[in-house]
Amino acid sequence: MKSLIFDKSISSPQITKREFLKFCGKSLFLLSASYLVGFPETSKAQIVKKGLIGTKLSPYFTPLEGGEIQCELCPHRCRVSKGKRGLCRVRENRDGKYYSLVYGNPCAIHPDPIEKKPFFHVLPGTISFSLATAGCNFQCKFCQNWEISQASPEDVYSLDVPPEMVVRKAKEMRAHSVAYTYVEPTIFSEYMFDIGQLVKKAGLLNVCHSNGFINPNPLRDLCKMLDAANIDLKGFTDTFYHELCSGELNPVLKTLKTLKQEKVHLEITNLVIPTKNDEISLIKEMCLWVKRELGADTPIHFSRFYPLYKLRTLPPTPVSTLEKARATALSAGLEYVYIGNIPGHEGENTYCPKCKKMIIQRTGYMVGEIHLKGGKCRYCGKPIPGIWS
Ligand code: SF4
Repeated sequence: MKSLIFDKSISSPQITKREFLKFCGKSLFLLSASYLVGFPETSKAQIVKKGLIGTKLSPYFTPLEGGEIQCELCPHRCRVSKGKRGLCRVRENRDGKYYSLVYGNPCAIHPDPIEKKPFFHVLPGTISFSLATAGCNFQCKFCQNWEISQASPEDVYSLDVPPEMVVRKAKEMRAHSVAYTYVEPTIFSEYMFDIGQLVKKAGLLNVCHSNGFINPNPLRDLCKMLDAANIDLKGFTDTFYHELCSGELNPVLKTLKTLKQEKVHLEITNLVIPTKNDEISLIKEMCLWVKRELGADTPIHFSRFYPLYKLRTLPPTPVSTLEKARATALSAGLEYVYIGNIPGHEGENTYCPKCKKMIIQRTGYMVGEIHLKGGKCRYCGKPIPGIWS
């Protein structure tokens, strides 16, 4: 499978900056190319267009005086006057009503290993049919997908893919889940909700990788269809969120707690960036918060940073820093602690917290031995949190 070839190179600790950037360009091409391979029939979905294609009225806005509106989808709560757009670039005030401009128009669509999201406790070794539109409500200086996340819908090539077609193609590709990913998926929430209802009916899972920057009401709506979420906990200070993401920490912490309460399977990703969020005392504080508020059995992924976008002058995260972060999380009491973007590292495997035996073996996004029986460790019988069948 094409994505596995590239996944190996994106994750290699030996990769140079030039190779990594080359990979990024190539992978974006592949998103479109593989999409076309997967959609051979003559249909309007084959037409790759630049410009606005689909719109849908948003349920999340409050009309204000003079035709202004206030968006209620995320904590930015943009006030938008007629003819203007919110910070995420994909929502527009048209005559006092607020519209999503990306409904049914993904600019990235690809069958990925679910390990790439990353989910390590959800149907290991299966395909997740993944998609994204343009736009994001954050402006992370280290974004891996900035070409689409920081773009307006008119700036990217998009496809016309109604929700029914997403589900049909996911099934044809033998995917077990549909993933809303690559950019912040809540900015295309209308599209996500409509796909999600059909995904559930088809017996597949809905999974998302999100920055968690969403207001409580839309989040609760999302929880009705969502089976699993991987939330980026990008740092553990407001300063980090303000300076590097144009966001805030507290709404993200609230989202994590809500997902837990709503019983959505939850995993956390922390991209460890040299000099920005790699202070071990803060990592410890974050891990203790996760244990206290979400539980010791919440899987956490410490992921390796590579220099790109606006942080090109920083080095890749040293392997020793990720190992220290993992050791810190384990000593804080977290039970499932992973290292990401270093294929072949023992921190990619799942170990039973009770008998300490390896129960899922991984190399990059490839899954090896699995020693689970009915969601329990095959050796000692300890239940392992996750969605296993
Ligand atoms: S979803 Fe977009 S328009 Fe709405 S508040 Fe957030 S950034 Fe603003």
